[in-house]
Amino acid sequence: MTLLEIGEAWQRVAACTEPLPAETVALDAALGRVAAEDALSAVDLPPFDRSAMDGFAVRSDDTVAPRALVVAGELAAGDVAQSPLLAGTAMGITTGAALPAGADAVLRVEDALVDGNRVTPARPVPAGTAVRYRGEDVARGDVLAPAGCLLGVQHVTALASAGVGSVAVHRRPVVHVLATGAELLELGAPPEPGRIHESNRLTLRLLAERAGAEVVVHPVVPDDAAATAAALETGLAGDVLAVSGGVSVGPHDHVKPALQQRGVDEVFWRVRLKPGKPLWFGRRGATLVFGLPGNPLSTVACFLLFVGPALRRLQGEPAAAPPYVPARLAVPARPADGRTTLLTARLARGDDGVLDATPSEAQGSHLTGALAASDGFVVVPHDAGELPAGAAVDALLL
Ligand code: AMP
Ligand code: MG
Repeated sequence: MTLLEIGEAWQRVAACTEPLPAETVALDAALGRVAAEDALSAVDLPPFDRSAMDGFAVRSDDTVAPRALVVAGELAAGDVAQSPLLAGTAMGITTGAALPAGADAVLRVEDALVDGNRVTPARPVPAGTAVRYRGEDVARGDVLAPAGCLLGVQHVTALASAGVGSVAVHRRPVVHVLATGAELLELGAPPEPGRIHESNRLTLRLLAERAGAEVVVHPVVPDDAAATAAALETGLAGDVLAVSGGVSVGPHDHVKPALQQRGVDEVFWRVRLKPGKPLWFGRRGATLVFGLPGNPLSTVACFLLFVGPALRRLQGEPAAAPPYVPARLAVPARPADGRTTLLTARLARGDDGVLDATPSEAQGSHLTGALAASDGFVVVPHDAGELPAGAAVDALLL
């Protein structure tokens, strides 16, 4: 049986992910989105020469040989002086207020000797003292977030300050989530003989939303060829279809033939991965289809390795890839049966800051109890043999 290496499988997925078209969103909805165009400042920043201190706007020439200046007015933040500052005068000014024309420095209140409506500088105030000049930070038209930039709080803050109310970002992918299996019970349903509680649709919805997608969840599909084909057709309406179960080789696995019947072209089937070997990937037009093996840990593993990074790419992150982080084995570990093996593991930072990985004693694609007691997976390559305690490994965090 030919199994695709994980890296090769990822390359094939990545090759099918073009950033989605742009849309304009309000700035308050832009966090975590990827700029589709350069986002420019709408103003100079500061927008005008303004005071950095509470004190008095002065003409620096008037302070060379300090003398009493007549206080000709008061300027608070938001005020605009109605007349220029004349020689021999000062104006009270607060932090952030616009300097009046003619003023070129601010005498700090701490350095001012005030007597009635006169103020005398304690010492000369050189031009520029306590002044924030127009445009010294940002000029109108400066790029604050280039196309392709993942918008963080730093960019949103800068754009808000720069008078920008909306930005062009790549559209979010719409992900349709489907699960197949006659045995599946709804969330919280009373137990029934021979049936199990379904979790994959919820897992996929939560992971896809966390990856920035909009998710449409479909009803569970029974293991029936016609019903599967019909459900898949409705699920092919978005950018991505993630369907769980039914991609193996059992007599009740209808997903692959149904996808073929609906005109979805296979890109690959089966990866050298445990759990997750039966992963199927294909496309119809621009819609990507992931057929995920039904065991809950297989679904999680395949999402972390393939679906999640594909969703980030669709949102305009061209470098998105499986989110491996470096870790160190606390105990020896080995791969299972010639496949690269994802072991559920506790992952905790050691004193040196490295993530120490302790795999669960029991491993299995159905062991959701072990999943609950884990922080994610460690990756043991199929050709690694037994890795000793202390070996450097990749981890995937949940
Ligand atoms: P399948 O991939 O359909 O052969 O399913 C593999 C195993 O995963 C079977 O034991 C199923 O009962 C189980 N399974 C399938 N779908 C789900 C699901 N949505 N949630 C939880 N377990 C599932
Ligand atoms: Mg099944």
